[in-house]
Amino acid sequence: MLWKGRRQSSNIEDRRGQYARRGGAIGGGSIIIALIAVFIFGQDPLMVLQGLQQQTSIVETSDSNYEPSAEEQQVFELISVVLADTEDTWNQIFQKAGYDYQAPKLVVYSGMTPTACGTGQAASGPFYCPGDQKIYLDLSFLSELQRMGASGDLAVAYVLAHEVGHHIQTLTGVSNKVRNLQSQTNQVGANAIQVKMELQADCLAGVWVNHTQKRARFLEQGDIEEALQAASAVGDDQLMRKAGLPPRREAFTHGSSKERMGWFNKGLKNGDLAACETGI
Ligand SMILES: [Zn+2]
Repeated sequence: MLWKGRRQSSNIEDRRGQYARRGGAIGGGSIIIALIAVFIFGQDPLMVLQGLQQQTSIVETSDSNYEPSAEEQQVFELISVVLADTEDTWNQIFQKAGYDYQAPKLVVYSGMTPTACGTGQAASGPFYCPGDQKIYLDLSFLSELQRMGASGDLAVAYVLAHEVGHHIQTLTGVSNKVRNLQSQTNQVGANAIQVKMELQADCLAGVWVNHTQKRARFLEQGDIEEALQAASAVGDDQLMRKAGLPPRREAFTHGSSKERMGWFNKGLKNGDLAACETGI
């Protein structure tokens, strides 16, 4: 991906080193349980966050001591360019359709941070909070992604573009519709609806790559494979197998590796929002 020297977004709140836990009410064990709850048992990450918030109190600390490594700073610059690319591309798509695009803010934090959806925890992975229209990202997730077998700059871009996809769903009213439908069904039904929403966000990430390529010619050889690898690495079946559990469709919240790659690819090939109709 060609990103060096390109525009960086100013819609970033850098909260690294700004918050710490008070009193140690939540230990590593709780974070691991939260992680298992999100990835394995198919709980809604936001519900897990809210659950954790009840046990956790965090305090604001000095931000002057935070020293990112050179490698981390490089990733920070990469995501600043990717966020700018989402702004320019979605702006173009919205304007063509006669709408104004309201860009989300990206909060980069370390460890934990307050959000309108409860306390953000690194263990929950990147997430979008509709309540404050912000994306929350702890950069350590990107090393985690590498450990799961997905590396490269377009893998990072896919993760961010997926979260921006959730913001698009909030702007288009899909998120509200999903919450309404989920409130009328049981956990298995709610999970099935959640999968459709997540696959649509993957498709929207593909649409973003399609349009950004036309606008900025930013792809290099091997980039698409990196994004597909990332989509595969975060498939529910693969995560469950990695945790030593047999995949259970009814516990899926994001879709299988095959589905995630398939919907990203569909958006990428079509470049059209209409192609992202996952049946919500
Ligand atoms: Zn998602």
